[in-house]
Amino acid sequence: MNSNELAGIGMTSQRTRERLIKRLQEQGISDPRVIEVMRNTPRHIFVDEALAHRAYEDVALPIGYNQTISQPYIVALMTQLLFEDGPKEKVLEIGTGSGYQTAVLAQLVGSVFSMERIKILQEKARQRINLLKLRNVSFRYSDGSMGWPDSSKAPFDGILSAAAPAELPQSLLDQLAIGGTLVCPVGEQHQQLVVIRRTDNGFEEQKVEDVCFVPLRSGVR
Ligand code: SAH
Repeated sequence: MNSNELAGIGMTSQRTRERLIKRLQEQGISDPRVIEVMRNTPRHIFVDEALAHRAYEDVALPIGYNQTISQPYIVALMTQLLFEDGPKEKVLEIGTGSGYQTAVLAQLVGSVFSMERIKILQEKARQRINLLKLRNVSFRYSDGSMGWPDSSKAPFDGILSAAAPAELPQSLLDQLAIGGTLVCPVGEQHQQLVVIRRTDNGFEEQKVEDVCFVPLRSGVR
């Protein structure tokens, strides 16, 4: 990929990208750091070439293996919620997928630890993150519902899941630092985006809105 392709020159106009940013703002994304990073992250490199012309529409798109790259609004919303009580240093992401959310996080936090259970998706995501020269991301091919293996990097002051468990896994709650924030879709047929804040006294839960994510699956493939 040359620098023109990376910049998306000839494929997506600056106007199309600005339209997306305006739409995010109209939907309530107001954190200026999140807006700035969404504006500067080339989403077209996170989808197959055949779909690149649709990369700046506010929709989820297929990335193969029955998975999707999240809708930009959802990526922006989850990131904004994660930072609502202040900046985060160490963030665990479950479900790397295309790596788009990973790239957004990597520009806003100290380090990102990203887990994926489909090897090929992880490999492609790794290449894209390298292309963007984001050096603060560690990848793990493993079932993220168990948290980062061996708790070696825990606790995390932020945890974000891009796949929905039927119920929040205890291992993720255990790996959340006191003062930390977890953002995760929860539910089976009916899912809600949930924010959990860990305090000295336990966990506080806030339900944000109805959402539609791929399910969190156990094991790897
Ligand atoms: N934010 C990503 C979303 C990818 S879809 C993007 O924008 O591209 C969710 C991802 O979660 C899929 O890639 C799926 O394989 C992964 N996933 C599902 N269950 C998982 C698990 N238990 N551990 C790790 N990853 C998981």
